[in-house]
Amino acid sequence: PAMTLDAASSALLADVMRRNPAEDEFHQAVSEVLEAIQPALRRDPGLRDAALLERLCEPERQVLFRVVWTDDEGRAHVNRGFRVGFSSALGPYKGGLRFHRSVRLGTVKFLAFEQVFKNALTGLGIGAGKGGSDFDPAGRSDAEVMRFCQAFMTELHRHIGPRTDVPAGDIGVGGREIGYLFGQYKRLTNRFDAGAITGKDPLIGGSLARPEATGYGTVYFLDAALTTRGERLDGRTAVVSGSGNVAFHAMAKLRELGATTVACSDSGGYLHDPAGLDLDVLHEVKTVQRQRLSAYLEHVPSARFFPGETPWEVPCDVAVPSATQNELDEPAAISLVKNGVLGMAEGANMPCTPAAVQVFREAGVVFAPGKAANAGGVATSALEMQQNASRERWTFEETDRRLKATMTAIHAQCLATADEHGAPGDYVTGANIAGFRTAAAAMSTLGL
Ligand code: GLU
Repeated sequence: PAMTLDAASSALLADVMRRNPAEDEFHQAVSEVLEAIQPALRRDPGLRDAALLERLCEPERQVLFRVVWTDDEGRAHVNRGFRVGFSSALGPYKGGLRFHRSVRLGTVKFLAFEQVFKNALTGLGIGAGKGGSDFDPAGRSDAEVMRFCQAFMTELHRHIGPRTDVPAGDIGVGGREIGYLFGQYKRLTNRFDAGAITGKDPLIGGSLARPEATGYGTVYFLDAALTTRGERLDGRTAVVSGSGNVAFHAMAKLRELGATTVACSDSGGYLHDPAGLDLDVLHEVKTVQRQRLSAYLEHVPSARFFPGETPWEVPCDVAVPSATQNELDEPAAISLVKNGVLGMAEGANMPCTPAAVQVFREAGVVFAPGKAANAGGVATSALEMQQNASRERWTFEETDRRLKATMTAIHAQCLATADEHGAPGDYVTGANIAGFRTAAAAMSTLGL
């Protein structure tokens, strides 16, 4: 149910909007958290002390820098680099880097803000940050991507470190980019500080199961939530938006648990096959060949591709939006509910608009918000830091076991917190309050 803000919270939100003009996504993220934590603020007035809420809405630091690099023709290009450290109360700043032409300071700020609550929920001692660039990797050669990553790290390196700020990947930043970024970090610092960046190739200190972790974790959370309702994934149909790292591994885990993914997408449109998508072909097209999703049809002509459309009209039992923020709006939510969707888990960060979330909650759909459901990625990054610090290497099975245990614990924590605040089964209330209470308690403990 939509909760209105108390006077102090609305004043704070107005202040955030005034101080951060034209950063709509950041305003949206703050407003969603303030709404969701109202029951906690009513129950525990101490949460308003020491400007805790105000401090939580203001990043500790924001770095904005110029990145100059040359393309394969020798032409120079100028991009912007960003790194926002939102909170270091629970540990070093932790969060990914996003390379996409749409990235602005406000994008990075909203993502870093979400990371505060997500990272607190993992219980693994990580603070929150995010970074990125408006660099557009589309159509760039490997050599161009390498030079861009090197130029980006030439400035970023002075701001990060295993005990300060630990970047990783996000949209547009995968194993290849992390390798180039870490290579430049190592060159500039004269140290093999593996724990300075996560999502590395296992050859250079990366954790097994890190590439799978966000998608797997999202499905582990969804599975736990459905089980709580007496439902199961086995035999269900799924729609997953996106076809990148998170989407792909969500589909793989859904298949393992007996569900069939009938649609996925990329920025060019969506792919539909009622018989189920072939994940081997998808992997070849998107990950190995780095092609557009529509190229799938060359391998499986019986599937259909819908250019320029999102997949939310396709009937399904569960949906896992794993593309990008605000990709699923109110009409899409209404269509999913009309088609009988049972469960939703956000693989991406803030993929559902506030109006869409409202539709799901009012319809009684199991709804797992990203800051809880997709926490498996950053949680496994924390496991990578742990392995780097101890110079250990865990097996895939061991790492996956810890990931699963973390997701089960986050799920239980969200459920218990929601119950405690009179909102049984409401993961939005549970995730936000549980993350907020942990982050706020750490700040109080540290003093002003
Ligand atoms: N970018 C991912 C996220 O949204 C992972 C961050 C990390 O591993 O540090 O949580």
